Amino acid sequence: MATDSNTARLIDGRALAANLRTEIASGVAKLKAETGVTPGLAVVLVGENPASVSYVTAKEKACREAGMYSKEVRLPESTTEEELVRLVRELNVDPSIHGILVQLPLPKHISDKAVIDAIEPAKDVDGFTTVNVGRMLVGESCYLPCTPHGILKLIEFSGMDVNGRHAVVIGRSNIVGKPVAALLSRKEVNATVTLCHTGTPDVSRFTRDADVVVVATGRPGTLVGDMLKPGAVVIDVGVNRIPDPSRPRGYRLVGDADFESCSRVAGAITPVPGGVGPLTITMLLWNTLEAAKK
Ligand code: NAP
Repeated sequence: MATDSNTARLIDGRALAANLRTEIASGVAKLKAETGVTPGLAVVLVGENPASVSYVTAKEKACREAGMYSKEVRLPESTTEEELVRLVRELNVDPSIHGILVQLPLPKHISDKAVIDAIEPAKDVDGFTTVNVGRMLVGESCYLPCTPHGILKLIEFSGMDVNGRHAVVIGRSNIVGKPVAALLSRKEVNATVTLCHTGTPDVSRFTRDADVVVVATGRPGTLVGDMLKPGAVVIDVGVNRIPDPSRPRGYRLVGDADFESCSRVAGAITPVPGGVGPLTITMLLWNTLEAAKK
């Protein structure tokens, strides 16, 4: 995959996701043949945020392609928290549904936490309920959150064994940064982890010593080449829309790492798009299949 000695290898998230999805589709076919159970995922979207609409559409499509049942619930922006919690409780007891996904962010008048924590932990295939987050932290069996789980798969796929290595995570959100740091520091993964955020005076002091950098800030250009140790693995989680009149959609997607300068120093790097994104959806399918097996 490397083109010359100064260009990082691309960590191809689409290829890894395609392999894993083939495995998941055979798991679905086997489950159907042996038990008659078709894994079912309910995808709930409130409002019409364009990024959320496109994520939800991709998730539903991936679900059907894997042979799963996908129940799409699209609700108007005016939906109340009470109505949404009631819907979640109905899905909790629907036997055709094994996984429930409520697309975030929700409109401002609805509490994300109230809705997410209404999901039965056994159907929380996003791994976002407080119960599942707690289980993940203490190392109990649970659904791992999809993006962090996908990031671990990508690091493994890059060929880097992080055991005993230094991993720097930039960003401490509940859905990416914190769980990635927690998973990387698990004994079976065994990285030494530094978690950076806006309170870190000099992020480059840490990244220059890192064997792996995971950047999840939602800010393009957070990580540039001269912040890296040569040969480091870079996992770019960011998805940012940059206006670009030359593109049919009027924008292009970039990550949080400056791809050009980072790929001159890194040993391997995920592209945006085509890196972390395909893995997030894949790990959702993985968790839904696991939920249907129980
Ligand atoms: P978020 O909730 O906005 O959190 C961003 C974090 O980055 C915060 O902890 C913030 O620090 C930190 N931060 C911001 N600027 C920084 C800087 N210059 N230096 C150091 N830390 C900085 O974002 P998120 O939900 O984690 O998402 C991050 C990015 O990943 C977004 O672009 C999002 O679209 C993308 N994403 C992609 C996927 C996927 O499947 N590909 C999934 C989820 C998210 P403070 O806490 O101090 O404010």
